[in-house]
Amino acid sequence: QKLIDRKEIPKKEEIVKKPAIYVDVIRDPEIQKARLKLPILAEEQQIMEIINANDIVIISGETGSGKTTQLPQFLFEAGYAEAKQIAVTEPRRIAAIAMSERVAKEMNMSNREISFLVRFQGNVTEDTKIKFMTDGVLLKEIESDFLLTNYSIVILDEAHERSLYTDILIGFLSRIVKLRKKRNNALKLIVMSATLRLEDFTTNSRLFSIPPPVVNVESRQFPVTVHFNRRTEEDYVKEAFKKTVKIHTTLPDGGILIFLTGEQEVNHLVYKLKKKFPYSDKSFRNKAELTTTTSEKISAEHKMKGKKAKKMIIPEINLNDYSLPEDSEEHSELEASDLEFDKEEEDCIESVCHGQPLWVLPLYSLLSMQKQNKIFQPVPLGCRLCVVSTNVAETSLTIPGIKYVVDSGKTKMKLYDKVTGVTRFEVHWTSKASADQRSGRAGRTGPGHCYRLYSSAVFNDTFENFSEPEIRRAPVDELYLRLRNMSIKDVINFPFPTPPDLMQLKMSETRLKILGVLDEENKVTRLGSVVAKYPVQPRFGKMLALSRNYDIMPYTIYLVAALSVPQVLLNAPTASTSDVAAVTKRWFDIRFTWANAGHSYLLGDNMVLLKALCGAEVAYSQGKLEQYCDDCGLRSKAVSEIRKLRLQLSKEVALNQIDMDIVVEPQLAPPNEAHAKLLRQILLCGLGDQIAKKMTLDEVPQGENKTKYKYAYHANNMEDLVFLHRSSIMKRTLPEFVVYQELYESNKIYMRGVTAIEPEWLPEYVPSLCNLSAPFTDPPPCFEDDIVMCTLTGTFGSQAWKLPEMKVEY
Ligand code: ADP
Ligand code: MG
Repeated sequence: QKLIDRKEIPKKEEIVKKPAIYVDVIRDPEIQKARLKLPILAEEQQIMEIINANDIVIISGETGSGKTTQLPQFLFEAGYAEAKQIAVTEPRRIAAIAMSERVAKEMNMSNREISFLVRFQGNVTEDTKIKFMTDGVLLKEIESDFLLTNYSIVILDEAHERSLYTDILIGFLSRIVKLRKKRNNALKLIVMSATLRLEDFTTNSRLFSIPPPVVNVESRQFPVTVHFNRRTEEDYVKEAFKKTVKIHTTLPDGGILIFLTGEQEVNHLVYKLKKKFPYSDKSFRNKAELTTTTSEKISAEHKMKGKKAKKMIIPEINLNDYSLPEDSEEHSELEASDLEFDKEEEDCIESVCHGQPLWVLPLYSLLSMQKQNKIFQPVPLGCRLCVVSTNVAETSLTIPGIKYVVDSGKTKMKLYDKVTGVTRFEVHWTSKASADQRSGRAGRTGPGHCYRLYSSAVFNDTFENFSEPEIRRAPVDELYLRLRNMSIKDVINFPFPTPPDLMQLKMSETRLKILGVLDEENKVTRLGSVVAKYPVQPRFGKMLALSRNYDIMPYTIYLVAALSVPQVLLNAPTASTSDVAAVTKRWFDIRFTWANAGHSYLLGDNMVLLKALCGAEVAYSQGKLEQYCDDCGLRSKAVSEIRKLRLQLSKEVALNQIDMDIVVEPQLAPPNEAHAKLLRQILLCGLGDQIAKKMTLDEVPQGENKTKYKYAYHANNMEDLVFLHRSSIMKRTLPEFVVYQELYESNKIYMRGVTAIEPEWLPEYVPSLCNLSAPFTDPPPCFEDDIVMCTLTGTFGSQAWKLPEMKVEY
């Protein structure tokens, strides 16, 4: 089947056939006028012809050509919402919400009919006709209704973003469409995308046996002149500030759009720009209702107290774990000093003539609806528009009137470390394709300019052509479990647009079996179905799921959050210190005191972690956090990252294990001895495949390092020995059996995050790696009251360590 190109599509006049049903929509004349200017409007009939004739259609078109707002309307008018609903998925919740509002407004209909649903929030009713949702929400719906019987058509929007869930949805829908057809209850699928790499969808025969037709919506794009910086400065926020000042003071009218990576950066720059270009007229300022950013609040407080404000921003919880990274933007400390101008910035402003005010607006996912909407409202007379945005403005939202784009070239990405199993957010260079999308934003209404805050050499040599699909970066254990939980038998043969690493998939399968979330037949266990609901590594999810039996949950949540953030405790000072050894010794002495109270020392490095964090919250409430972090070698930024995760996980737990009552107070007393023992068992449940045993005296030749441990089990059957690092508190006690959080290699292989366990716990908590003898053999059973007691013997792990004999009830 050939790809349908615009040139081959019959001219509008040639098409006489109308869709069978035509539902009238009465629009506001103003709106209708604006719609008619959109490129996609000219192609409505052609597009509908192709959709009516095909089950699966790919629509690609420049951002801003009207795909997201118009296509659902075309379908509605053609009767697709008569019997069933029209579904539209977005990778970002901000887009799902904004687009439902916009479409409702354009169609003169209420939110009862044009609705949205994102996790924890929505306004869907029984009258809903068009339903905008995040891709994660539709995936959840497939779990309960595989054939998606409520929908007549599904639009997967922003498919070029290659979000993990949209990718998986394409795989599922390619099959669901066939199944629905067999049942004479057709479901149509539309994949919508910006004009980027479509081959992964069109030439993948496992996905679509016949390549679906592609409709290219042609749009008018004015030329954009791209200017590279000669040098690439480290501090791109400062560079963005300088560039914006320059544009505003020297260049002709036209909106400015600035791309940064996260909410904090955005607020920071908005604050500085507003401060530099204030409104001269006070009443005008009031009428204009300036958006109050967090930074402004801080600065106001700062003024009131008459001293340097230092305030932790208590994070709003990000409730939607199903969306792209910028939904999880960092909420960390914003220092008052960040909000002052330095010499260089002052110089750059010196020349400013206080003329035209700048209408500065922030844009990021967690911004309230009302504030987001400001980007679409008319700019006050005589002002220049300036939007400071995360990459949400790259393709999801089109801001009118932009002529200048300032691009930091950076993006915040969710990265997964295959070795440590830790997922984290990191700021990275974006791809060439994204950078081009960003510059394209300047050419919507006329010729524009894009200022890239990096050199052309960096662009050419360092930027990838395209960003890797998320599926290539995401942890596979979690994905594997989810797909199994959705009854996908053969995960390896799932029709992924781009398959994940096969070797990683195999290893995941083994690990999940050891964890007990999959059984021998690869079926999801009852435990597994609970674990699958948590947005963390399955091993941590298991720790959460099993904690429901104990009043230990707040501690488990704290620990899981802490283990999911890298480098919480430092092993050596990072800044130049005169005496590194002395500082490090002081740190370790403090940590040793923490760990060494009563029997809780057996919790080891994890006790240190928890005590350090509990102490940090107290220090924070006294305004002494920085001092405290310096004293014990805690990374202060990690404290706020962990706090954010704690809040999110607490919500998740409350949702999935409803009977729990969870304390989300920032301050929690350090764990006592009883807690410590439970936490050791909980850690063992999650880390059962990461156990090591100290080598016996006769195994270690005289005079050799006594900190040698052997693995109980290793997926790759490695024979190496592992060691306790000097940074592990356990180095002082050398327990017999330990679990570790991760291994890392420098000159030897070291264990990190070590906790002591008892071997008699193994049969109960890691049964999958135990080989137990049948009871009643030797010695003969003895009777105590009514319970039969018997002795259990057995071995553990791939090296068949002998387990201690145990008396058990039978
Ligand atoms: P695409 O999906 O092809 O990128 P959209 O349908 O999102 O395009 O946008 C089409 C046009 O609608 C853009 O010019 C955009 O500025 C405008 N638009 C979108 N949302 C709103 C809104 N809430 N208010 C005013 N204009 C909007
Ligand atoms: Mg769109």
